[in-house]
Amino acid sequence: MLVVDHVTKKYGKNIACNDVSFVLDPGSLSVLLGPNGAGKSTIMKSIIGFLKYSGSITVNGIPNKTSEARRVLGYIPEMPSLYPTLTVVEHMEFIARAYKMTDYKGRIDELLERFELADKKKKFGDELSKGMQQKLNLCIGLLPDPDILLLDEPLLGLDPHAIKELKKMIEEMRQAGKTMLVSTHIIDSVDMLWDQAIIMQGGTVKARVTKNEIEGRNISLEDLFFEVTEGLSKEDLSEDKPEQTASPEKEAGV
Ligand code: ADP
Repeated sequence: MLVVDHVTKKYGKNIACNDVSFVLDPGSLSVLLGPNGAGKSTIMKSIIGFLKYSGSITVNGIPNKTSEARRVLGYIPEMPSLYPTLTVVEHMEFIARAYKMTDYKGRIDELLERFELADKKKKFGDELSKGMQQKLNLCIGLLPDPDILLLDEPLLGLDPHAIKELKKMIEEMRQAGKTMLVSTHIIDSVDMLWDQAIIMQGGTVKARVTKNEIEGRNISLEDLFFEVTEGLSKEDLSEDKPEQTASPEKEAGV
């Protein structure tokens, strides 16, 4: 279980995250929603241990910055940072060694195959297109197969095949009991099976709902998002968009 407890992060006078609290239950998929600048990346970077903040973050009761906690935490950043002089496969081998993985060649091949990078193995980091860099970034983050994985805007810049493949992998990881937190500002992209949605705006958590709660309220995640971020009621939303009344498929898909 990952517990974020009253976390506040300031950049000078700017409060990027203000008293943020939530829990990720083991084996659950949580979506972290919010417009640009809501504080999603900041809370993810705090969880992974990149930032100083006030409050506490624990992983199975252990502070997140300890080596024990770090071993189970994984993070896929929004922006890839690749080494220009390492090839695709060298990036993967570097990560495998850093995580002291044994018998990793098969997993490297599988990931590169799934994200259509198998024929780019010998290309250098700076020879890859933006989209390929994003895909390699994903492969690097997925390689160690951590128990808890944070994915920051993972669909940005991906082609349709990679989006499909990543959503499939997220579902596979969920079924394998992994704990995941997936951030996005694109509400339409949340069509995977999620357990909890956390909506942030202006550095604070505006709403936290489980799938069951939202189904009980008979409201779509999109409606809830605009209700809490723009103060629109369900009635306002249906007046604005009469053609977009929630379809059973959409409801089932979110
Ligand atoms: P999101 O991921 O939801 O788009 P961020 O966590 O990136 O939001 O940003 C939250 C707030 O913190 C924004 O106001 C942003 O400008 C600010 N911020 C983020 N990173 C930095 C930084 N390194 N220095 C100063 N301000 C930052």
